Amino acid sequence: MNSFYPPVRILMGPGPSDVSSRVLLAQARPTLGHLDPAFQMLMEETKGGLQRLFRAPEHACIPLPGPGTCGMEAGMMNLLEPGEVAVVAINGLFGQRMADMAERAGAEVVRVEQTWGEPIDPAKVEAALWARGAKLLAFVHAETSTGVMSDPGPLCALAREHGALTVVDCVTSLGGITVDAQAWGADVLYAGTQKCLSAPPGLAPFAISPRGQEAVKARKTKPRTWLYDLQLLMSYWGGEGGRAYHHTAPVNAVYGLHEAMVALFEEGQTAVIARHLAMHQALLAGLGGLGLELNVAEDHRLPQLNAVKAPEGVDEARVRMHMLERFGVEIGAGLGPLKGRIWRVGLMGASATPRHVRLCLTALGDALAAQGRNAASVQDALDAVETRLAAVA
Ligand SMILES: *Cc1c(COP(=O)(O)O)cnc(C)c1O
Repeated sequence: MNSFYPPVRILMGPGPSDVSSRVLLAQARPTLGHLDPAFQMLMEETKGGLQRLFRAPEHACIPLPGPGTCGMEAGMMNLLEPGEVAVVAINGLFGQRMADMAERAGAEVVRVEQTWGEPIDPAKVEAALWARGAKLLAFVHAETSTGVMSDPGPLCALAREHGALTVVDCVTSLGGITVDAQAWGADVLYAGTQKCLSAPPGLAPFAISPRGQEAVKARKTKPRTWLYDLQLLMSYWGGEGGRAYHHTAPVNAVYGLHEAMVALFEEGQTAVIARHLAMHQALLAGLGGLGLELNVAEDHRLPQLNAVKAPEGVDEARVRMHMLERFGVEIGAGLGPLKGRIWRVGLMGASATPRHVRLCLTALGDALAAQGRNAASVQDALDAVETRLAAVA
């Protein structure tokens, strides 16, 4: 075997996003024992940082070991018991995954289906909540599979009216658009490190409200997960009475998440969100120059995940391959009903910069030109970007 040196890439897909050298270097610092007092201090800061990020001063926040999906798993498996009713709103791949998990938890799942590319309609959700006494409402804030944002405030309010808890997937939203657990009144929220937080994949920031914790304590059966059993996890991360061994925390991954939060708070949460929006607008202007448009109505677009319609007759897979091979730029493909119909361009965290926007449009324009499309328009696209950037500066 030989050492592995990854090729240099520019990550502009649905995640992971580019990781700054600052975060990579933080992860390369010496490993501590997971019960070392110095690491426990770092854990406490990390928990506090997550409370700030989720705007969840009353929630218990911890980074779970594993990808974003483990946050979903922890939420569904801990809040649901066999026979309980879960309403799951589905407008893309990750909503589907939530429904699958709720079923595995033994719940009776009511699926509220929405066309992929559209936000969740609260009226449809309300009808489902009326139908039966639901324990839980689950939905995705930022559907990465389609580039659509749904509004959590009204959905969480409906759930509360019906006495249901909420699980909100914030994997792609946290650090890219406003996440506000307290204002929404959301019970469980979870995210991933590799999207807008721009740390390597491997941890799932997780938040649970006091009401959610009560529900977990009141369970009649043990959750169908050991690793993500919140009662066990809370006593590991909890602090009071000392930490009991549960699993070995991925120590260096926590260094990375911590550093990513330090960088984010240095820039400022409001400034970070404004940057994501400005880069989205610059990209949009440039896409117009290439004669391309987005697949999502203006009001529901995610700045950090742009679903770009692939023009009729263009080999979309070859475009992605061209961008990767010639420019080292990775963008994503469409999924499910949108497979072959869209590209997914991520502007997440450290990948939300003017340089990324310009490079992506240049690579995309060149890839289209290679298929005999819009050969003259890369310059138009870049000019439009500069005009837009000058307007927001
Ligand atoms: C990426 C993503 C996930 C899953 O995260 P993994 O780290 O791949 O497990 C879940 N939900 C949404 C909305 C995502 O974008």
